[in-house]
Amino acid sequence: MSTVCARCENVTQSRLECPTCSKLGIRGSYFCSQDCFKTGFQKTHKLVHELVKNPASSVNVGKTDSYNPFPNYSFTGTLRPLYPLSPKRHVPDHIPRPEYAATGKPMSELREAGQPPRILNAEEIAKMRIACRLSREVLDIAASHVRPGITTDELDEIVHNATIERNAYPSPLNYRNFPKSVCTSINEAICHGIPDQRILQEGDIINIDVSLFYDGYHGDVNGTYPVGKIDDDSQRLIRTTRESLDAAIKMCKPGALLRDIGKTIEPVARANGCAVVRTYTGHGIHELFHCSPNIPHYAKNKAIGTMKTGMVFTIEPMLNLGTNWSEVHWPDNWTATTVDGKRSAQFEETLLITDTGVEVLTAAPQAA
Ligand SMILES: [Zn+2]
Ligand SMILES: [Zn+2]
Repeated sequence: MSTVCARCENVTQSRLECPTCSKLGIRGSYFCSQDCFKTGFQKTHKLVHELVKNPASSVNVGKTDSYNPFPNYSFTGTLRPLYPLSPKRHVPDHIPRPEYAATGKPMSELREAGQPPRILNAEEIAKMRIACRLSREVLDIAASHVRPGITTDELDEIVHNATIERNAYPSPLNYRNFPKSVCTSINEAICHGIPDQRILQEGDIINIDVSLFYDGYHGDVNGTYPVGKIDDDSQRLIRTTRESLDAAIKMCKPGALLRDIGKTIEPVARANGCAVVRTYTGHGIHELFHCSPNIPHYAKNKAIGTMKTGMVFTIEPMLNLGTNWSEVHWPDNWTATTVDGKRSAQFEETLLITDTGVEVLTAAPQAA
């Protein structure tokens, strides 16, 4: 009887069986040579053992020889990072880039922190419309690839390529040293997940947060998507998060209080068994990626000021299942997750306050 080598995939007559596998009762882990056993074991075969001993880890499988870079960190749920990250992606030289692209430091943002929100003129608004429309196009392309079996790194590649094809720069890339072109946040990840080797699993939910820089202006939009069939709680979470954003958009108009955005969002969340994340907020956006006004999504917030015609900002509520709104961070210093491992969802749009109300600059194209 011949077998396939678990390392080189050659058909082999010699069946060198992994001793741990035979002990654990895993069938089919044969190697054609001692060499293949050694390298195969070091790279990927360890994962097979882990899978059997701890079925929860079966949701964290990568496409390449991947590993958890923080084995000693106490994760709050079952999601794990799977490194290595792919090499930094290239942006062609002819594409204009934001000031932090080379250094990682958004100096103008830091300088202008605390300034009152800017009012954009007609020319600037025209440019925002384009950047935001392109952001939506890229998000919709990425979302159309969400399925079991794709890695978040592959989604990053799709976002990166769709962005540079449009002569735009992917805003997350090297922003405060973020390593990738998009944020992908799965299940209990609230936001700022780093695309890596993890394969999306049936039943996951994933937020894809796309932002890009075109002709001097940033657009910013995100959505949460089911991977195959998801459970009822996850459906409720996604539906409620979208509803809470839509309710907030509806109350936007000149003269409306910025603090009332959170007052609108939180009751929708609570009525559906969800908690509103407090640490991350919406933000002004134009030539700067993140600037004033700051937009809290929770009730009884202290945001100052009213909406004015020509203001542009995002609303991007993050809702957690249950009652715990706080978060913890992975040692990558980016990924924020819920503290209890429960799932979190987010939607975001970039909005322009107009004379008559609000224009959703990143709106999905209307079906004809
Ligand atoms: Zn965003
Ligand atoms: Zn944003």
